[in-house]
Amino acid sequence: MDTSVTSTRRADGTAAALAVAAPRPVERLVQGQPTSDGAGVKLTRVLTQNLQRRLDPFLMLDAFGSDAAADYIGGFPDHPHRGFETVTYMLEGRMRHKDSAGNEGLLTPGAVQWMTAGRGVIHSEMPEQEEGRMEGFQLWLNLPAKHKMRQPWYRDIRPEDIPEWRGGGVTARVIAGHAQGVAGAMQREDTEPLYLDLHLEPGATFAQPLPAAHNAFVYVYRGELLIGQTAVRSQRMAILANADGSDGVALVAGEQGARAIVIAGRPLNEPIAQYGPFVMNTNQEIFQAVEDFRAGRLA
Ligand code: FE
Repeated sequence: MDTSVTSTRRADGTAAALAVAAPRPVERLVQGQPTSDGAGVKLTRVLTQNLQRRLDPFLMLDAFGSDAAADYIGGFPDHPHRGFETVTYMLEGRMRHKDSAGNEGLLTPGAVQWMTAGRGVIHSEMPEQEEGRMEGFQLWLNLPAKHKMRQPWYRDIRPEDIPEWRGGGVTARVIAGHAQGVAGAMQREDTEPLYLDLHLEPGATFAQPLPAAHNAFVYVYRGELLIGQTAVRSQRMAILANADGSDGVALVAGEQGARAIVIAGRPLNEPIAQYGPFVMNTNQEIFQAVEDFRAGRLA
């Protein structure tokens, strides 16, 4: 990948501005809700159930980050999922995954685990450290009705296998979708998810084209960003308006620089029925999932 020309062009930020002519404004800022899940893991639920319709096809985003082992040591022992995909992105720390489909993997800093629960898996996600920092995100991506009962699937993406783009004081790790001509580690046909982890130096700018119909949000986890007229502080999610005629998002890092994830995707516009770790289209399908789990048919 040749980024040298791009970097030079983007050094003053003008090329970045040109890449998106009509940037989306921020529709709303959201502060995550502190909660705990699994065996007492403290986390912040950023995308909560009441935002599932607005941010379709995304169902959940949890941010976790702690230096205290007591906050994460319990991990997530065996539990089931059906009907969607989980995408875990580690910034710090090590987590081991095992599932009933026979997959096992160790998540290390900078790695991503992409798991398609499909018709069902039972898995555990357990810390493989007794001290030190554990930080990262788990995103739930919905599956279209036609794929909810597909076979489970799993991929561990090593840190070095996540393509990066660098230019103008920005490093973009392209986990899914495309950015600046770089194809991400994962592509998904139905929802075309975009998942970027951006590291911006103070004052750096970044522009990302986005189809106006795709739902999109930015979660800042270090420093501060300016999106249009809206300052987005650390630990805030900015929901981007689906403004008619808009063609993307433009970001400017604050004085301290910023780190943020940018997530977007094409909405499925299908009914969403969720009961805990099962996300289907109807209540009947939820009852079936619970029954299948109790009868041992998910393992
Ligand atoms: Fe899980």
